[in-house]
Amino acid sequence: MRTAESPRPTRRTVDTHCPYCALQCGMTLSRGAGTEVAPRDFPANAGGLCQKGWTAPALLTSPARLTTPLVRVAGELRPASWEAALDLVASRLLEIRAEHGPDAVAVFGGGGLTNEKSYLLGKFARVALGTSQIDYNGRFCMSSAAAAGVRAFGVDRGLPFPLTDLAGADAVLLAGANPAETMPPFLQHLRGAGAKGGLIVVDPRRTPTAEQANLHLAPAPGTDLALALGILHAAVADGHMRQSYADERTTGFEAAWRIAAAYWPEQVERITGVAAADQRRAAELLAGARNAYVLTARGTEQHATGTDTVSAWINLALALGLPGTRGSGFGCLTGQGNGQGGREHGQKADQLPGYRKIDDPAAREHVAGVWGVRADSLPGPGRSAYELLDVLGTEHGPRALLVFGSNVVVSAPRSAHVTERLSALDFVVTADLVLSETSALADVVLPVTQWAEEDGTMTNLEGRVLLRRKALDPPVGVRTDLAVLAGLARRLGQPEGRFPADAETVFTELRAASAGGPADYSGVSYDRLRAGEALYWPVPGEAHPGTPRLFLDGFAHPGGRARFVPVRHTGPAEPPDERYPLHATTGRVLQHYQSGAQTRLVDELNDTVPEVFVEVHPDTAERAGLAEGGLALVSSRRGAVTARVRRVGSMRRDVVFLPFHFPGEARANLLTNPALDPVSRMPEFKVCAVRLSKEDGAE
Ligand code: SF4
Repeated sequence: MRTAESPRPTRRTVDTHCPYCALQCGMTLSRGAGTEVAPRDFPANAGGLCQKGWTAPALLTSPARLTTPLVRVAGELRPASWEAALDLVASRLLEIRAEHGPDAVAVFGGGGLTNEKSYLLGKFARVALGTSQIDYNGRFCMSSAAAAGVRAFGVDRGLPFPLTDLAGADAVLLAGANPAETMPPFLQHLRGAGAKGGLIVVDPRRTPTAEQANLHLAPAPGTDLALALGILHAAVADGHMRQSYADERTTGFEAAWRIAAAYWPEQVERITGVAAADQRRAAELLAGARNAYVLTARGTEQHATGTDTVSAWINLALALGLPGTRGSGFGCLTGQGNGQGGREHGQKADQLPGYRKIDDPAAREHVAGVWGVRADSLPGPGRSAYELLDVLGTEHGPRALLVFGSNVVVSAPRSAHVTERLSALDFVVTADLVLSETSALADVVLPVTQWAEEDGTMTNLEGRVLLRRKALDPPVGVRTDLAVLAGLARRLGQPEGRFPADAETVFTELRAASAGGPADYSGVSYDRLRAGEALYWPVPGEAHPGTPRLFLDGFAHPGGRARFVPVRHTGPAEPPDERYPLHATTGRVLQHYQSGAQTRLVDELNDTVPEVFVEVHPDTAERAGLAEGGLALVSSRRGAVTARVRRVGSMRRDVVFLPFHFPGEARANLLTNPALDPVSRMPEFKVCAVRLSKEDGAE
């Protein structure tokens, strides 16, 4: 591995966006003595940046940066030329495909990839490889909210309104979200509701976000669905239901109510631990507000019942008449940088660009026409992310895997098993910035550009399409992901020009492929974005101004009505028992992002939180003999993690918390349960049964 040379600037100052989360804070990169960042007055962040954004330039000069392809020889990764590496990848993929069929090659993408990369990766899988086996890590993050949004509203856009609308809210209920740590500048949009006494936070932990709430509801992990039913019950029973809205704009209330009627607040208190009076108070605050919002995030979604849990919160919002009403609404806070755009353009197992379904004959015809192939040559739906990882290297599973923009060894649930499956493959290729834990297992590692070194578009959590401009030349030896795909496609026999390497050219093709689909980008162009237009999809034509607010005139279902969905509480897939008596929940800390592959390289971030820890109530710690700062062994049925003890008085006595950013034996995902939501196929990251003991040899 070579040390990255200092990047050379192509311009002195460039307006761009942060490399990390879905808030996509506006920032300016400038090059003087070094590369510096400054916040920009962009509506999503209004001049704010978190510590991750401020320190992002350190990624550009990290000594850990890869600058030459690596090929495994005699068990070791050794430098190779691009020609040799790409030739090897293409020839091995062709061999494996010839021997085992096209589905023997799988592709795994990421929610941080630009729209152009997500699009080209999906096309590469279906056209150049002919495989149905493609999915991505957004399946782990946002798929339950997406499924519930489609079910209720007919289309999924995380926030169907601009973030700045939240400033006018009198009440906001935030379920399973901790933006004070995950996206701090977002909090300024909640100030209005907080000042009016209407900020309600639902979280089993007293997080920094919950600290700021006017009302904090702390349900036992895995009982959020029951809590939403209890608040819905209170709202209806106490006369807060907006009957005229339900009659005119929705269907299905009666069926949903038949279940919710059995979840009166005292009953829900027994299930969740949240006082009945607090449930009624939450209903009153939302119903009494002139403008109110219900917002959900990973804490709601990452369950084996995640889709139903989001539906339960949507039912509450519908009963109160919020969605599609100006100044009010329901939304999901998307997490990954391009979590929204990444789920729209075809890297998902069941999807084609423009948020089209791959099993829809009309969608196949349209997209195949844009790609210049026959519709019947496109494969059908493949396996979802965990199901794909679970069968790697098995008799009926793929024999080879290409990974772009994901670090599954750290971020997938039951990660020891996933590592084992990767090791069973005949051939693994990654495109990566640094030698991540997943790349360390690969046969070929291709060094690619990042964030400020390439052009590309991202779609933020509001559905606004953003241009992230190239600010610096990449280090010598590094190529863009698009160039990698183009080079491989050529070697796999694709005609010249079918896989362009230029981002704007790819985007032009994406526009055509998305035209007429739910996420229609056909009217978005680089020129309009360069001119600073705020374009929220759908944008079905060059003269169309975009759609900042969806649903004001009707929902996307035929007939224009939103749908209540009847849902009931079933609880976590793995309830605590005598052997594993505690709930473990996982999440993020301010200083790190996702698997930590990037933020662990930034000294300022890593020095602040350098290792995994476990938050535990002092009484629970006492019973396990654990002192503050000592080491605990946290064990589940799938594995064990040694973590530094933090005794936190506000924790529930039945819950421990671990962040999931750390590698090796510190992976919180060694513990997590891959039980899947039946609709979204999202794993149950947010709750599993564990026990706590003193680590042998601990001080
Ligand atoms: S990590 Fe998110 S909140 Fe922090 S600066 Fe980047 S985009 Fe903004």
